[in-house]
Amino acid sequence: MLLGPAAVARWVADASVEFASRAKELDALDAAIGDGDHGSNLARGMATAATIPLGATQSAADYLGRVGMALVSSVGGASGPLYGTFFLKTGQLWTSPPSVTSLALALRAGLKSIQARGRAEVGDATMIDALAPAVDVLEGYRSDDVRAAVTEAIAASLAGAEATAKMVARRGRAAHYGQASVGHVDPGARSMALLIESAGRQVIGTLGDPK
Ligand code: ADP
Ligand code: MG
Repeated sequence: MLLGPAAVARWVADASVEFASRAKELDALDAAIGDGDHGSNLARGMATAATIPLGATQSAADYLGRVGMALVSSVGGASGPLYGTFFLKTGQLWTSPPSVTSLALALRAGLKSIQARGRAEVGDATMIDALAPAVDVLEGYRSDDVRAAVTEAIAASLAGAEATAKMVARRGRAAHYGQASVGHVDPGARSMALLIESAGRQVIGTLGDPK
């Protein structure tokens, strides 16, 4: 029964290491079209989340709900509540072990929750643009090959983040830059792609040996 919370706790631990090492890179992206704090914000939030003890946690939903609350309370700025609600809602539909369908459902719920709060659409150059392509891949996947689907979803997410450089930012601080935001990768899109990549690593890591 511990597989569920233990697996998502490994995701959070992996993401906290990733964001600690990427904090400067993400701050630099945010400095170009914002206030330069996105990487520091997220590194602090994920470090806090990674200290949540598994203890008596019964489910992945319970664990990810606590992670969401930790992010809301420890990450300043727009991204704290958005990532907080993402973890909360994604967690509620997380199954262990995940299937292609369950991953699609969980991440779709996370995506919807970010949009309900932040009102961003695909193409507005936000974290949505790294999440929606991954959800689309998983929803459209025509086999149960979790490893292949997740690998493709990660690639779509990373490409989606890169594609924000071609978009005019329409939400958050970057929107104040208007056309001048073109040419810059959105920091939240980049961090979302790193988070999806981290989740995918953990999901693939829980699968059996390919042979
Ligand atoms: P702040 O802009 O308050 O300093 P952060 O720098 O931590 O917050 O996060 C900025 C990121 O948050 C942006 O790069 C963008 O991806 C995301 N973001 C901001 N506003 C929205 C929104 N309304 N919907 C979705 N994502 C948003
Ligand atoms: Mg910022």
